[in-house]
This record gives sequence, structure tokens and C-alpha cells, in this order.
Amino acid sequence: MKKIIVANWKMNGGVEFLRNYFSAGFTASNQIDTVFCPQFPLLNSFADYANKYGFFLGAQDCHHEFKGAFTGDVSAELLKEISVNYVILGHSERREYHFEKNEVIAKKFSQAQKFNLTPILCIGESLIDREKGNYKDFLLTQLSNSLPENFTSNFIIAYEPIWSIGTGVIATNDQIIEVFSLIKEFLNNKIGSDVDKIRILYGGSVNDKNVGDLSKIKDLSGYLVGSASLKRDQFSIISNSLL
Ligand code: PEP
Repeated sequence: MKKIIVANWKMNGGVEFLRNYFSAGFTASNQIDTVFCPQFPLLNSFADYANKYGFFLGAQDCHHEFKGAFTGDVSAELLKEISVNYVILGHSERREYHFEKNEVIAKKFSQAQKFNLTPILCIGESLIDREKGNYKDFLLTQLSNSLPENFTSNFIIAYEPIWSIGTGVIATNDQIIEVFSLIKEFLNNKIGSDVDKIRILYGGSVNDKNVGDLSKIKDLSGYLVGSASLKRDQFSIISNSLL
């Protein structure tokens, strides 16, 4: 199974930024999957670079219905049509600022898989849940309820503790290992040996300085990277650590 690195540009990076980012070229190793998730309007321009440099396109969200009167939303079908392969679902910022509940995320998951997009399902506990000690129950409920009743094994899980996203505070290797084995055990009960096909990522303040330690985690399939992905050199160092 190839490792994967996902750049979540969030609501950053415009046309000029994109041009500068790739102005000195870009090397996406074919030993890992590299995915860029820019703002929706940039996806089309990104497609040229994706072809040229061998990376994949990802979206930061999709709608849970096929089509219709949903002003401001984007359908999974359209994403597929413009060569998107991956879609981030259930990011904590969508859960917080768009009030997305697990149940709607599960519907998005189905919609994405219907159009052959690979969902990157984000789960993560708050600092309060971590400190209260009930984070395992929280994570299992979140994971279980964010998955639809029927799904294929074409998906990725990103463990992103909310207290680590954009804070500079990174989870320890032991904390990550504990949650990864929780996720694996859950998936094993659900899909049996197919669990070996599921890539599990860590996300939260990953940068060029702390990535060396993280790469010691045996079951780590890669990273979901926010702010450090906006700096091309940092992002390359993080990618290279997966080789
Ligand atoms: C994210 O938002 O998915 C993320 C991991 O952000 P950052 O790397 O900036 O913490």
C-alpha cells in the first residue's frame, strides 16, 4: 500500500500563489500518492499541474445530495468530472463552522464513493474530551456514525485531534499509535481483512521539524497537512520523510 500525503490549503492560495508555488517545478515521487486540495475554483487550474507533475487532485468537501437546489454547494459528480480523485470529509472546521453532523458526513461519504472519489474521512477529539479521558468513546462514535451503512474499502481515515490543528501542538507518537490501533480494531470488526487496504493518516501541526519523529510510527500511512503545505519547501521535506 502506497503512503499518501494530502495538502489541505483550506481557504488560502489564489491564482498568483498557485503560479508561484509551482514556478520552480515540483517533484511528486511515484512511490507515494501526493494530493493537493485547494479552494474549489482553483481545481481546474490545478489539473494542469497535476498532469504535469504527477499528483492527484482533492476537494475539501462535497455535498451529500446528487444535485439540486443547494446554493453554494458542490456535487461529487462535478468533482469527478473535473478529474478530482479524493475528497476530504468531516474536517473539524466543517464540523464546527458549518455545523456538519456525523449523519450528513456519512451521506457525503456515500455520495463520494458513488462517483469514485476516495473519501478522506477526518475524525478527532477536542481538548476537553482528551482531558476528560473519554476521547476513545468519542472517536469510536464519531467514526461509526460518520460511515454510511454500506461502503466499499476505498477510503482513508485521517486522525486529526482538534487541539493539534493549527496550534503548533502535535500529538505524541504514543497518542497517535493508541488511536490508530483503536481505528484499526473498529475497522477490523466492520470490514475484516480489508482493513489492510485502509490508509490511516495523522494530521495536526505536522511540519518539516517534527516529521522525523512521526515517521517512526509503524502503521502510519501518511499525513494530512494544513499550514505547512502552503510552503512548498516544507511540504517537500514532509513528503520526502515518507519515502
Ligand atoms: C488540517 O487542518 O487538516 C491540518 C492538519 O492543519 P495544520 O497542519 O495547519 O494543523
